[in-house]
Amino acid sequence: MTGDPRRSLPAVERVLQALRNESDLPAALVTDAARTAVEEARRLVEQGVAVSNDDVVASARRHLERRQTAQLRPVVNATGVLLHTNLGRAPIGADALRAAAGIGSGYSNLEYRLDRGARGSRHDHAGSLLAQATGAEAGLVVNNNAAAVLLTLAALARSRDVVVSRGELVEIGGGFRVPEIIRESGCRLVEVGTTNRTRVADYERALGNDTAILLKVHASNYRMIGFTEEATIDQLARVGPPVVLDAGSGLLDETTPWLDHRPAWLSGEPGIRQAVAAGAALVTFSGDKLLGGPQAGVVVGRRELVERVSRHPLARALRADKLTLAAMQSVALSYLSGDAAAIPLWRMATTPVDDLRRRAERLAARIPDAKVVDTDAAAGGGSLPGLVIPSAGVAIETAAVDVMLQALRDRGVVARAHAGAVVCDLRTVEAHDDDVLTRALLDACKPCT
Ligand SMILES: *Cc1c(COP(=O)(O)O)cnc(C)c1O
Repeated sequence: MTGDPRRSLPAVERVLQALRNESDLPAALVTDAARTAVEEARRLVEQGVAVSNDDVVASARRHLERRQTAQLRPVVNATGVLLHTNLGRAPIGADALRAAAGIGSGYSNLEYRLDRGARGSRHDHAGSLLAQATGAEAGLVVNNNAAAVLLTLAALARSRDVVVSRGELVEIGGGFRVPEIIRESGCRLVEVGTTNRTRVADYERALGNDTAILLKVHASNYRMIGFTEEATIDQLARVGPPVVLDAGSGLLDETTPWLDHRPAWLSGEPGIRQAVAAGAALVTFSGDKLLGGPQAGVVVGRRELVERVSRHPLARALRADKLTLAAMQSVALSYLSGDAAAIPLWRMATTPVDDLRRRAERLAARIPDAKVVDTDAAAGGGSLPGLVIPSAGVAIETAAVDVMLQALRDRGVVARAHAGAVVCDLRTVEAHDDDVLTRALLDACKPCT
């Protein structure tokens, strides 16, 4: 008699004991992993598979590790994509984080007028500074740019007509499709022109009693070349209805007063300040893609319209919280004082290639088989399609590119594959992470060579 083999399986308690002191995770999660491992072992035994105590402990350990790596945690972005959508877009600067900590850890005048002892508005801070930075009358900050567009459309054009060029009915990514957002805001889409050419006359012909706004969308993630034509904002501003521009990404100001030298790859990006000056009634853009700040959406423009947007019932559901508003206020102040160094996006974007190459040489000297390579970094986040930012990094040729990329990811480093090599682009790696990157590369190389 050997008895029921399931009875020889360790109890959850015994697995827990074996795992004690192995994980920083809360006890409830460790128990969860142990219980899952024991249940899986029981099923295997029922199918006649032999399972040892050590197998069960090892399986529980794997569950725990998976739990651990699935947690939100920092990674080293060695992809060279500055606004990497899956890696949190823009890193937030130390000043902005300090501001968020300072406001978040206590009480603040978020919606309180200290000069009157009366209720105030959460748009009096970051919103008004961003208006100042763009030459607009007023501004407000919401959860993200998708929210800014949804809210603007709902507030200005619900149950009425929104006129858009067929060339601008785009999908931005992550499910943001212009025709759908217009429908979801309760507006009627009126398409004008053609995919490649739309003229002012096309908008004029579409005007009716129900026309609420002319919407222009910055099709930032793709580019049309050849036989193309579009109406400019100043042309549209003369047509009549308010012109709303969804800029998304681009530049706060085309003249980039916060940069000493404007890099060549930036030319051609539209500026919010210029759109306001050209007569846009409202402009929406992204706090992270365009400003290098926290996830947020910004609406700037005519005071009366910004107020209508902020009074709409949806504004309550889409508003930014105090941490975001504190960080955005700090970011706006940095732009107003021309301090690009405070904004990691600009610091990284404008680092001279020679600096990156020198760091790459130091890295390559410490890693067997690594060599210094010139690379093409990119803005990402659906901006500047096809444009490359000259960059440098290290490449390690290996027959097992995918294995090595996974080994790097296990160590919190996201790199990319290129021509039979693993490439780490240093434009998106902070210099203080070079040691972390070196150690990860040394560890990850071992099984590959
Ligand atoms: C990115 C983008 C959006 C969406 O903005 P989120 O901040 O991602 O919500 C909308 N419109 C345009 C033109 C964009 O570039």
